[in-house]
Amino acid sequence: MKAVLLHEFGEIENLQYTDFQTPDITPNQVLVKINAVALNHLDLFVRKGIPGLNLEIPHILGSDIAGEIVEIGSEVNVSNIQVNQQVVVDPGIYCGVCEFCVQGQHSLCNTYGILGEHKRGGYAEYIAIPAENAIPIPDTSSLELVQAAAVPLTFMTAYHMLVTRAKLKVGEDVLITGIGGGVALAALQIAKLNGARVCVTSSSNEKLDKARKFGADFTINYQENPDYHKEVFSLTNKRGVDVVVDSAGQATWEKNMRALRKGGRLVTCGATTGPIAKTNINLLFWKQLDLLGSTMASRQELNNVLRLVWNNQLKPIIHQVLPLSEVQKAHKILEEGKQFGKIVLQP
Ligand SMILES: [Zn+2]
Repeated sequence: MKAVLLHEFGEIENLQYTDFQTPDITPNQVLVKINAVALNHLDLFVRKGIPGLNLEIPHILGSDIAGEIVEIGSEVNVSNIQVNQQVVVDPGIYCGVCEFCVQGQHSLCNTYGILGEHKRGGYAEYIAIPAENAIPIPDTSSLELVQAAAVPLTFMTAYHMLVTRAKLKVGEDVLITGIGGGVALAALQIAKLNGARVCVTSSSNEKLDKARKFGADFTINYQENPDYHKEVFSLTNKRGVDVVVDSAGQATWEKNMRALRKGGRLVTCGATTGPIAKTNINLLFWKQLDLLGSTMASRQELNNVLRLVWNNQLKPIIHQVLPLSEVQKAHKILEEGKQFGKIVLQP
């Protein structure tokens, strides 16, 4: 099969589009012929090399996969899986038996991993996955496979952040930093669907204009207005927002805490500007803030969010579709941060 291999972590040039053996399935796996694989920021981190992450070399990136079942392992006992079935893939790999898995909190699993990060992923024509990770796309859905591939990781992450961790309520005010990225755009749609009023930030007025079309009530250009938390305060009648959704980390940490109302919640799923930030403890206790960490989501949460996608209540936003052979170009676009929505590759 054709695949994009990483023999060594590092720059974009290390991504090699070449031939590789088609994976064999174990009795509990299915083989998926990949139609589309969406990029995530995670792909950039893994490509550059994550310290301590011990991977089988060559590694294959790609967490968000949609395709068609072409082979089913002899011991697979999942009734809704057939050959030719179109599926979207749950990128989470978990044991199913640890104390967290039995509570349905799969992303807390003691051995939790993500396809494309801890295991070989979907920058390829085929992938072998545990049968339970293949989620059938209902016949009633009008979604194309390129759109389906753009859903799992970002939508499940945003759902877990807003619904499960921050417990968003109808009518609350939400601040989402860095609109344009996949998680931020998913969070915008989920917040609006839950009846929130949403303020978004970006350094690009073009992205802010587009965000308004997807429901953003307020927009702030943080390059023109670096003290965006002050703007948030005046937009909310000096109250501050109930919830901040962030994945920037270091650069936004204290400003986000200042943008919150008393008793507000800051939920973070990443640190694209750096992982080490100073916390003003006076702010934390005086305002009685909740700082919430969030990673991926459970299968139930992914199912919940997929139902909303199949019903057209949430829509994956696609920036560009490219052939898998143009993977280097795709990484360049993502690295420059110019995208609004997902970049999808097709083998
Ligand atoms: Zn587990």
